[in-house]
Amino acid sequence: MSRRSAPLAAALLAAATFAACAKGDTHRAPATTGDSAASPGQATADSTTAGGEVAASSAGAPGGGRAPNLNGRIPVLEYHVIGGEKNAMYTRTVASFKADLEEVYKRGYRPINMSQLLDKDFRDVPPGMSPVVFVFDDASPEQFSYLGEAGKIDPNSGVGIWLDFAKSHPGWKNRGTFCMLNGGAAGHNFFGDGPKFKGQQKAWRFQKVQWLNQQGFELCSHTLWHARLDKYSDAVVQEQIARNVMGIDSAVPGYRVRSFALPYGIWPKNRALAWSGSWTDPKSKKTVTYKFDDVMEVSGGPTRSPYDPAFNPHSITRIEAVGDDIRKTLERLDATNNRFVAK
Ligand SMILES: [Zn+2]
Repeated sequence: MSRRSAPLAAALLAAATFAACAKGDTHRAPATTGDSAASPGQATADSTTAGGEVAASSAGAPGGGRAPNLNGRIPVLEYHVIGGEKNAMYTRTVASFKADLEEVYKRGYRPINMSQLLDKDFRDVPPGMSPVVFVFDDASPEQFSYLGEAGKIDPNSGVGIWLDFAKSHPGWKNRGTFCMLNGGAAGHNFFGDGPKFKGQQKAWRFQKVQWLNQQGFELCSHTLWHARLDKYSDAVVQEQIARNVMGIDSAVPGYRVRSFALPYGIWPKNRALAWSGSWTDPKSKKTVTYKFDDVMEVSGGPTRSPYDPAFNPHSITRIEAVGDDIRKTLERLDATNNRFVAK
């Protein structure tokens, strides 16, 4: 969510104290200097689950066959809740989300993770086509829910829609970046932490996070409960981020979190703490350090290419999935011939 989400922000804040005191998970100190294991998904067993196919030629595919442009811009799309009756600032209906997927597909975009963008890893984008990064903020149950039992993915949750879309759209892989909360209100805790929130169970949280990683999606930090980082001391800022990274590490031990999305797009007073810092757990006395390779803002349009000399990974701009903004942005990129095209 961005700075315009006052009601949800208030709700998140209201639950924060409780979340901060009530968390009983055991955490391991995350690896901070880990080698980049099986890229891009960091899944240990079978990282080729979704990415093993060779990128096919784009000749003849809708939107493909363009001249390479490695300095062009890359759309990074920002989603919050997927569902509801009508579109709002932080809600994209199922119908609109499906339409967005169709729109980018027919224009010749293929999904990659933010970490792949950083690494100039465009293996999942056939030559003549363009990368797009889908980013899902806040870890709401609407993004990823189970129907009644663990592992049975709700076809109307964001992930279920994504999987269905992939079945009928060749070349559409499980790539996307989930910037998660692990102690937010309203079930914004690894996609739902109780039956009140779309019937989700607390015990399913880690399984969902693990599944995302195994499938090739990227796990990204978004703080513990969505604190407005400019309002807090350096110590609290680092605690908010470190405890989020600890939570991800509890679900997927050893996972190196590389991406961070600023809550509300608001920087802490000490900017550098958004990408690097540490916090010592008073209980275990363990120090958790974090060092992100990128920081995502809330808006700002399509982001620069990693080949662009002005590319700044600590300021990745995004396009909020609001109204017609995505379609208009893609149209503008084509009209100005300023679109990244893989070679
Ligand atoms: Zn958010």
